[in-house]
Amino acid sequence: MTDRPTANYLDSAKRVVIKIGSSLLVDDATGTLHHAWLEALAQDIAALRALHKDVIIVSSGAIALGRRHLELGDRVLKLEENQAAAAAGQIRLAHAFQETLGKQDLHVAQLLLTSADTEARRRYLNARNTINALLKLGAVPVINENDTVATDEIRVGDNDRLAARMAEMASADCLVLLSDVNGLYDANPRIDGSAKLIREVTEITPEIENMAGSTGSAHAKGGMVTKIAAAHIAVHAGCHMVITDGTKLHPLKALENGADCTWFVSKATPRSARKRWILGSLKPVGKLILDAGAQTALTKGKSLLPAGVHDVEGDFERGDTVMLCGPDGSDLGRGLCAYSSK
Ligand code: GLU
Repeated sequence: MTDRPTANYLDSAKRVVIKIGSSLLVDDATGTLHHAWLEALAQDIAALRALHKDVIIVSSGAIALGRRHLELGDRVLKLEENQAAAAAGQIRLAHAFQETLGKQDLHVAQLLLTSADTEARRRYLNARNTINALLKLGAVPVINENDTVATDEIRVGDNDRLAARMAEMASADCLVLLSDVNGLYDANPRIDGSAKLIREVTEITPEIENMAGSTGSAHAKGGMVTKIAAAHIAVHAGCHMVITDGTKLHPLKALENGADCTWFVSKATPRSARKRWILGSLKPVGKLILDAGAQTALTKGKSLLPAGVHDVEGDFERGDTVMLCGPDGSDLGRGLCAYSSK
């Protein structure tokens, strides 16, 4: 942990996830969208795209927009009212992104996901493949939680963690949380004038967790505690994460120019984290017995072709984890299979 200025990981990033909180996008009092702010953000995103960085947006604001539109007032909403508000608001949110990013010649595509989509293997793979395909086509995926179907058991609940899971799913190397605070402080800056901004966190220690608990900043759903939970997910997935103030116009440009922020630095890369995950967390459900030629190719880092598979054991689907064995049955490694056992 340090309070000195640090490296700017946005500069070196190839794939960036940007999380936008409701309060930045929607006016609390009137429930209208902050158009000027979104226009400025779209220009920042276009600048990142011009540098050939892939950009994914995770945006809140559906409920905030929808509750005004349906005239639900300020009262606490019942679950189904929240879901109705999300349904009414999401269509407006998507429209705003399409219009505003469209002016920058960017194509947008909407994905509404629940935590089940990030956990169930097959749905995870479909979502991951869709995001990859969109990025390859130069589009900007705009993601939100699918609030109309996400009841407690399957909801992520806050978009800080949803954004971190998206960063993990897309193997992003940078996650930007645009917030109404400029980072993590060692005490509550609203009460304590001597509170210091932590500029870099290289390890999320209990001390860091405590700071998040006591600073009680950032209203809406994601306070500092959910931001730290997001940081856990991101750094574990090989993705650097930054919390920065998004309340002014051009927050990404400001970040590039060295605005105050807190970086959570990952020691891994998305690739090494993914390999560790395949090796450590997934139980193989089948075996591929390879011929000698395929074994040699694999140990040289080359790809496995179907012709090199001598035999298949077990019953598995596309996307399942399989064990790779040499002709003598020796354990060579693990992989995710692009085909079913059949
Ligand atoms: N999915 C919610 C919405 O769009 C927001 C959740 C959050 O702000 O973390 O209103």
